[in-house]
Amino acid sequence: MSRLMVGVSGVRGEIAKTLTPEVAVAFGSAFGTMLGAGKSVVVGRDSRPSGSMVRNAVTSGLAACGVDVIHLGVVSTPGVALMTRHLQADGGIVLTASHNPLEWNGIKFLRPNGLGLGAQQAEQLKTMWESGNFAYVGATQCGGESANTQTHAIHIQAVLDIVKAKDIARRGFKVVLDSINGAGCTATAELMERLGCEFVHLNGEPTGLFAHTPEPIAENLGALCEAVRQHNADIGFAQDPDADRLAMVDETGAFVGEEYTLAVCAAYVLSQQSAGGGSIATNLSTSRMIDDIAAAAGARVFRTPVGEVNVAERMLEAGCVFAGEGNGGVIDPRVVPVRDSLVGIALVLAHMTETGEPFSESIAKLPRYELMKTKFPCSAGAAGKLVGAVKKHFAGRRGVRLDDRDGLRVDLPSGWVHIRASNTEPIIRIFAEGRSRADAQALVADVRSVADAAAG
Ligand code: MG
Repeated sequence: MSRLMVGVSGVRGEIAKTLTPEVAVAFGSAFGTMLGAGKSVVVGRDSRPSGSMVRNAVTSGLAACGVDVIHLGVVSTPGVALMTRHLQADGGIVLTASHNPLEWNGIKFLRPNGLGLGAQQAEQLKTMWESGNFAYVGATQCGGESANTQTHAIHIQAVLDIVKAKDIARRGFKVVLDSINGAGCTATAELMERLGCEFVHLNGEPTGLFAHTPEPIAENLGALCEAVRQHNADIGFAQDPDADRLAMVDETGAFVGEEYTLAVCAAYVLSQQSAGGGSIATNLSTSRMIDDIAAAAGARVFRTPVGEVNVAERMLEAGCVFAGEGNGGVIDPRVVPVRDSLVGIALVLAHMTETGEPFSESIAKLPRYELMKTKFPCSAGAAGKLVGAVKKHFAGRRGVRLDDRDGLRVDLPSGWVHIRASNTEPIIRIFAEGRSRADAQALVADVRSVADAAAG
């Protein structure tokens, strides 16, 4: 049985089951109450067929609290973040369930700078929603509605400004793009044209009728791999439904692990720093490739607890030149301080322009690691005990560094392992990385044996 998921990144549920019009009105009202009458909010949505229903309900709640709503229409998540900042709104709302299937939708709340709410604000919003005690205004003070259709144009220009677009266009890359009939369809097609690409667009109509399981991971991208081979393309790209994540397929039609999106983009951005140095922010579960790439460029890496907001906040605080997550989410603060697949596409093509080599060769030159991602059932209570036992197991060993800001990350000379309890399910996730698959497997086995002993 699915349930309404209320977390730091907003609320998600299944349409007509847990995410009903009533729930959407209540969350619009809670956010409107938090902001107060006279404020403004931009609202954009991904392409799901339920998008209009959720938008109308959320808008109703906001307007009832005296908040003006600026509708952006069907746009990407980074597009909403960018417009929230650009229009100097007091907040933003994205209606999307990201990579969840079509039956789902969600409401994500943004701060004026485009970042998602921090943990404290998210908790405040949840409490407000639970209380049902909303600050509705009188008849003459209800919020109004307006529309803004500039998101794609402004977003595309901001992305073009970070690369040498003419140099990329001169290469005339052949690209296959899978936009999963999501929010990225329109803007990304235009970006491709502006970058002079000859492109084949798979699932390029923003109908929200997802042609395959939406998460951009290897098992869902067989058709893209096939199309890259069939069309003799230079590269293939896949977006998720709200276009904040990006996966890649090389010119041979081989899926390139999602960890490589950040690695390639960061390597390119660091190579463009005239003064050298700079710094990168990423989470504790991201591949060590980024540390090697940064070290080679004389740059520093800041690790944060998992969660896009944590990474983005650190990026802004530390003045990082780039940031991102190993799930294919890259963040360039020059465009927008959230994950953006359009940024990823432009930077990868810029990298290919600069190297002039087939993409598979660029990938082969990157530091090589094997990252294993696994999980097992564990109650929230047992998770704390388990983390403690693993900490004890590794503490005091030679060359070992422990980081317990988010579960536990153990760095060893030969690799690392990160264990953390899920916020939404009674499971523990284990990420382990080594020079070989056997190294990574050995780390996972080590943690599992400690877990079994702790469970007694
Ligand atoms: Mg997404």
